[in-house]
Amino acid sequence: MNLAVWLQRAGQSHAGRPAVALGTRVVRRYGELAERAARLAGALQTLGLRPGDRVAIVAKNSPDILDLMYGIWQAGLAVVPANAKLHGAELGYILEHSGVRVCFASAGLDDEIAPHAPATLERLIRIGSAEYEALFAAGTVAMVARQPDDLAWLFYTSGTTGRPKGAMLTHRVLAAASHAYATQVDPIAPGDAILHAAPMSHGSGLYIMAHVPRLGVQVVPESGGFEPDEVCALFDTWPNASMFAAPTMIKRLVECPADLCAEHIRTLIWGGAPMYVEDTLRALDRFGPRLAQIYGQGEAPMTITTLSKADIADRDHPNWLARLASAGRPYADVEVRVADADDNALPVGQTGEILCRGDVVMPGYWQNDEANVTTMRGGWLHTGDVGAFDAGGYLVLKDRSKDLIISGGSNIYPREVEEVLLASDKVREVSVIGRPDAEWGEVVVAYVVGDASAAELDALCLSHIARFKRPKDYVFVDTLPKNNYGKILKTELRQRDAGRGQG
Ligand code: AMP
Repeated sequence: MNLAVWLQRAGQSHAGRPAVALGTRVVRRYGELAERAARLAGALQTLGLRPGDRVAIVAKNSPDILDLMYGIWQAGLAVVPANAKLHGAELGYILEHSGVRVCFASAGLDDEIAPHAPATLERLIRIGSAEYEALFAAGTVAMVARQPDDLAWLFYTSGTTGRPKGAMLTHRVLAAASHAYATQVDPIAPGDAILHAAPMSHGSGLYIMAHVPRLGVQVVPESGGFEPDEVCALFDTWPNASMFAAPTMIKRLVECPADLCAEHIRTLIWGGAPMYVEDTLRALDRFGPRLAQIYGQGEAPMTITTLSKADIADRDHPNWLARLASAGRPYADVEVRVADADDNALPVGQTGEILCRGDVVMPGYWQNDEANVTTMRGGWLHTGDVGAFDAGGYLVLKDRSKDLIISGGSNIYPREVEEVLLASDKVREVSVIGRPDAEWGEVVVAYVVGDASAAELDALCLSHIARFKRPKDYVFVDTLPKNNYGKILKTELRQRDAGRGQG
């Protein structure tokens, strides 16, 4: 079934209910949103686009994204949302690789894309221009039927290494992920809001669909992104609002001086990167039982495991802290396996690569047979993440396999060392990497943002972890290299680190 049917039905049955807000103002009601989507679908057909063709959206968060996504789907096309913070050349690569025929870009971004536009791109349309507005004057068209395995969203991974890859998210994948979210993470009642402060082209965008059949309100901040003060004010305006946030965003909300009433928040969902236990505890003290964690990746759109609000808030449980350090339990309809190098399931407690399969998993990457052969081996998604199940069925993530440090033959997971260092209130951020070493193979090095001394941090490690895991060197820096999603780039850190320690 076409995902856009959910909007069409909501538009018919609840035309007057708020669907989209810009800041505090409702800008689309369900009837209007459905009609705009149907008109845009008509215009896209007139442009000669045929079912299965790809259409890109390059824009900061804005209500226009909803018109565009649903119009594209209604016409039976696939949407290619690209991160607005990428360089023109990087956007050009995505447009070329996905073979999009039409690209919608917000003012300014179109100029950035133009010099890099591939020959296959037939139209670059500026959102808000007269040409753009004219598309919504077209006659409405009927919903184009789609099969569950037809492509709906080409999700370009953030690419912490190498070129981004396009995860093929089908109508089936997105429908399954939406149901999983609404049943297992965050139930949605009519009028509940979802605040899109993280990019709608990625993390936050995945929450759009679940809110449509349940008559939620999509709230887009006027800044088009994450400004803590603005977000706090929006939580006050839209009681019962949820928000998906990267751990760094949650941290900033905790530190935000604005007087945010926690009771207005339905759920703060974090995922996309590890949240250290110290930070979770601070967030829990500040916001109470309103935090949930999700673990996934673009390839299984944030739907592999989840740590529920109840688990996070269950302070009396004997395993409470251990659970907080985990990524929770698998979603009901997803098979998750911790496997050895031959893909055999490992017993509880043993560490291996995390594999998963089920309706929420992509069928593969767009035009990338080489990556598909390895990533989808045996019908399982190989996440590249390393972890272990505990006896209670909670998945403890260690690190990306490539981040593992092997020193003197022992495996050291950077995250365990990072957790310890972050317990110091003089440490704001930290990233631990391996540095090649003639004697040990690799040694542990900590990059630290904060004003602790190396001696203090060494003492902290000595009292919490095995001696061989202690960093042999501390490098104090003002900032850590991060990508556009706020993820720390260990690969870049390792490159910067190359050459150090050899003097
Ligand atoms: P992306 O596809 O860019 O969203 O990146 C997905 C990767 O982020 C996963 O493969 C994990 O390495 C990491 N990740 C996602 N969620 C979590 C989480 N809850 N805790 C730790 N790491 C996570």
